[in-house]
Amino acid sequence: MTQTSTHDTLQRQASLIGQLTLEEKVHLLTGETAFTLPGHDMIGLAPLAFSDGPTGVRGLKFAGGEPVALFPNATLISGSWDDEIASEVGAMLAEEARRQDIHVVLGPTINLHRSALGGRLFEAYSEDPYLTGRTAAGYVKAMQAAGTASCLKHLVANESETLRNFVDSRVSEQALRELYLLPFEMAVQDAGVWSMMAAYNDINGTTATEHHQVQQEIVKDEWAWDGLIMSDWFAVKRTVPSANAGLDLVMPGPEGPWGDRLVAAVRHGDVEESTIDDHLARLLLLAERTGALNTGTTEATYDYPSPASTSRREQLRRIATRGMVLVKNDDGALPLSGTGPLALIGRHALQTQGMGGGSAQVNPPHLITLDDALTTRLGDELTVVDGVGVRSRPLPAAPGFVRDPQTGEPGMRVTYFAADGRELGSRHEDGTTITVGWDDDFPEKPTAVELTARLSNRQGPVRLGGIANGTWTLSGPSGQLGCKNLPVSTAEPAETMLRPPSFVEHYELPPNAVVTARLEITTADWDAIFAANPALDIAEESHLLTTGSFGTVSLVAEQPTRTDEDALAQAELAAARAGTAVVVVGLTEEDETEAHDKETLALPGRQDELVRRVAAVADRTIVVVNAATPVLMPWIDEVDAVLIAGLPGQEAGDAIAEVLLGVSEPTGRLVTSYPAADGASPAWTVTPDEDVAVHYTEGTRIGYRGYHAGLAPEPLFWFGHGLGYGSWDYGQPRLVPDSGVPTVEVEITNTSARASRETVQLYFQPTDQAQAIRLVGYAGAVVEAGATATVTVACDARLFRTWDEASRTWQPLTDGELLLARGLGDVRARLTLG
Ligand code: BGC
Repeated sequence: MTQTSTHDTLQRQASLIGQLTLEEKVHLLTGETAFTLPGHDMIGLAPLAFSDGPTGVRGLKFAGGEPVALFPNATLISGSWDDEIASEVGAMLAEEARRQDIHVVLGPTINLHRSALGGRLFEAYSEDPYLTGRTAAGYVKAMQAAGTASCLKHLVANESETLRNFVDSRVSEQALRELYLLPFEMAVQDAGVWSMMAAYNDINGTTATEHHQVQQEIVKDEWAWDGLIMSDWFAVKRTVPSANAGLDLVMPGPEGPWGDRLVAAVRHGDVEESTIDDHLARLLLLAERTGALNTGTTEATYDYPSPASTSRREQLRRIATRGMVLVKNDDGALPLSGTGPLALIGRHALQTQGMGGGSAQVNPPHLITLDDALTTRLGDELTVVDGVGVRSRPLPAAPGFVRDPQTGEPGMRVTYFAADGRELGSRHEDGTTITVGWDDDFPEKPTAVELTARLSNRQGPVRLGGIANGTWTLSGPSGQLGCKNLPVSTAEPAETMLRPPSFVEHYELPPNAVVTARLEITTADWDAIFAANPALDIAEESHLLTTGSFGTVSLVAEQPTRTDEDALAQAELAAARAGTAVVVVGLTEEDETEAHDKETLALPGRQDELVRRVAAVADRTIVVVNAATPVLMPWIDEVDAVLIAGLPGQEAGDAIAEVLLGVSEPTGRLVTSYPAADGASPAWTVTPDEDVAVHYTEGTRIGYRGYHAGLAPEPLFWFGHGLGYGSWDYGQPRLVPDSGVPTVEVEITNTSARASRETVQLYFQPTDQAQAIRLVGYAGAVVEAGATATVTVACDARLFRTWDEASRTWQPLTDGELLLARGLGDVRARLTLG
């Protein structure tokens, strides 16, 4: 939209706003439920509906809900380094949203991979701001072209999860502008994004929702942006400072820190009514853009592909393969010939991980495991061996193992009780996790729930337990089995909800036993928690203190089958017999998740040992890493090939199988550098200090920028690295004359025997060594075997400037060297600038 038409629209909004009382206006500025806003008939405003979005449009329920398409995770999308893939994802997500009448998709996540320990990196694109911004812009543009809003998150400097509601990210203005704000700026300038989400954390001492400089001065004023800023869920801590700092909308609702308190603040003169009007004008503009204002009708019947339709499955599979990265491939170990015996080994082969944890989770129609996919393709030639354990926390029971005793359907029966013992309701659940106290649809808040299921157990011990804060009582066919109190033990509300404590015990039960797990819900005693953590310095008015009583509740029930020792022995046997072994290792949603950071990059459990023992006996060992973020590979020299498969979504197994068998090329390039050891990276710790601060002391040198400057030992694999199935010769690059911002042309020759895709990357090292090297452009090309293509890479002007802290202005960077590189570990040519 042009500035003039924006102005006209704002005028139109003003006349609608003029019809509302102050109370009505303020009411519209807080959510109505967990994921919807209030509507207002008189002004023709329909209730807007939001849904989380980085890896699928989950819908209005936080847990469970209707099956929806589960996409490859963010690093597989950015890993293609391809604007067309980003656009295709945006367009598909818009279809998923419109199919469910969702107006705003809460994504993409465009925080950066600062430290590889960050729990939410799997949701975000890269350690590089330009790759992140370009991917985001492609996604946003395509999504919004279909009339669905994107919401960039989380503004800003939200790179880790530990104490995320309180942590202060201390970052220089130079790093903030050149790195952390750049993807937001690009999505504003290049895609005209319609909304953003303010983060939980503080930035240099001021919490994000109250950050006037970021929200108002930079994003709204300096960038002349007309979109809306909503809060992250329960992030707003105080009424007046947030309303005055450029935040437009509080989420979720219906309760919240604005409402009556904000009305009173306006009456008292602490907030101008014109400020409220500006928030509302932006909200109405968002409604108009997404078809929720004055449309009169809801959308007619469109024929959107269902999540399990053939066309959707093909897209999801292809996109996943495009982002997978082949980081090692000695003697053409991959692709596999597809004939002859093959041993497939590892827990992730049987339980392939399709997504990470937290608010990015969705309920997919299916999840194809690598075991499913290779068994279909290879039949008798394949031997599959389950691997060693990969988790340290219990999992919710598999719906196949538990059934509702009343209906006999897979899942469980859930019964809710009020404080006086009254039964509030009873219903069947397909899954074994529910949400209580928030985002549920019970008329009265329950104080106890009972989860009842008939197990499919045989004779022998059963592991039984629960996941949630509160007091648990387990009972079986012969009465009470045990009791356990799990108090709220963390000061972090999100962790209380997304990673609640758990317990599990072994019991001898008769076959097909009916068990009940009863939970007396206890709410967090925030006063006690904050008293024990004085450094958290929480404002008295804090909204957080009113929201302590919600969470997910899961039933744990399983029958253990075998030990790690058995798994290791069977793996060795199968690998030695087959000669060729594919070992699938990885992380789970315990490690790659919201609300929690990792403490190590080592693979969980005895997976490293599994790889080593297989490699010692197999002729050829191929490792598939089913994780989105860096892991350590102490066995790298002992194996023949390593494929980083990411979290490939619902078609995971088929996508990996296609790549292993050479049906598809893994065209990805790494979006983040892989440290060689724990701690060996330019930015590492994510644990706040005694002031609850994380210091971004590496400045603008995160990831490859820092490795290149010698801030850490050489990484195991550089950002940008990726072999694909081709091999490449580079010609002499040349600068295209009079192109303004540098543009480079280079001939590349595919010296391999198959068509392949190359990503030509261009980095700029300014002469002024105080300035970090940076990616300034890239372009992809598919080239036939033996053929040569000319690739043109246009650089982006926003990388040829630096923020001068003294004058608080951008200064141009002109002199330096351009490097053509396949990741900075493989520089192919150099050009001098200036
Ligand atoms: C996350 C957001 C998410 C929101 C709604 C928060 O916990 O930080 O990214 O969109 O929940 O689910």
